[in-house]
Amino acid sequence: MSENNVLLRVQNLKKHFPIGGGLFGRNTRAVKAVDGISFEIKKGETLGMVGESGCGKSTAGRTILQLYKPTDGKVFFEGQDLTQMNSAEIRRLRPKMQMIFQDPYATLNPRHSVRKIVGEPLVIQGVMKKGSSELEDRVTELMELVGMNPAYMRRFPHEFSGGQRQRIGIARALSLNPDFIVCDEPISALDVSIQAQVVNLMQDLQEQLGMAYLFIAHDLSMVKHISHRIVVMYLGKAMELTERNTLFDNPLHPYTQSLNSAVPIPDPKSEQKRQRFILEGDPPSPASPPSGCVFHTRCPLAEEKCIRVEPEFREIHPGHFVACHLADEKGSSKIFA
Ligand code: SF4
Repeated sequence: MSENNVLLRVQNLKKHFPIGGGLFGRNTRAVKAVDGISFEIKKGETLGMVGESGCGKSTAGRTILQLYKPTDGKVFFEGQDLTQMNSAEIRRLRPKMQMIFQDPYATLNPRHSVRKIVGEPLVIQGVMKKGSSELEDRVTELMELVGMNPAYMRRFPHEFSGGQRQRIGIARALSLNPDFIVCDEPISALDVSIQAQVVNLMQDLQEQLGMAYLFIAHDLSMVKHISHRIVVMYLGKAMELTERNTLFDNPLHPYTQSLNSAVPIPDPKSEQKRQRFILEGDPPSPASPPSGCVFHTRCPLAEEKCIRVEPEFREIHPGHFVACHLADEKGSSKIFA
């Protein structure tokens, strides 16, 4: 990836949450929510991040934005290391890095009008004055941008549907012209019929405005259309990272293969032939992850080595990274014969 094109570089990022702890803090254990992930996001790119709930994807998003202090690792935004900045420096950069949440209803203040919700970041950052005509114009523009009637700006969140509320959340996130948005399961709480509309809107906005997304979701079908590349997470670690089409056509990690086998195929003939591999059990606790490969307790291909030795996150083909001992250039780690 050309250096000039890189917007965000995440290096060996970890976020561990201490739990329990013995006397005087000895024997403190930790939930390893994010445990050493590395990737880059290009300007204007969408990186999909997928994994079952509890795999650390939301924590990863928040830690990248420095809403959580990382336990270890680095996050470079436009070449500047966010992990070395103080809170005032982070605040100055905040307009460039925004977040869209899963449940807009929980994150939009129910007592505030849409005008206040969408315009608030501009007032807080001192870009525009409260009550100014300039602010009114900008809120009007943002509402039009997300496909909402500006006449609704005096209404309150409860007067809107889930999809409209997500549009309001997007308008708020866009108010400061960010270069990067962490989208934390933005469509998971919406009706299936509305999901595609919101994804299309986000794609259109990206084409118009050029920002990059980290688009978090719990299943591959949700990130399929919007992502340029996809990283698959399991128990706080990255299992596979590659271009979107490669991930669907030639997944090399057994976990990706199982997630992929759950994605319906639009063509009825191919859909009939689709082989499904359903993983048994739940992921282990990130407070006591398995030894070796963290996926070995559920992997149909696990060997003795997998229990002892953690696989490296290796670049098997240019731009295609996999953490599996059996993955090689011939793609030999296949759960389907
Ligand atoms: Fe399965 Fe072993 Fe590969 Fe882990 S390293 S995914 S346990 S085959």
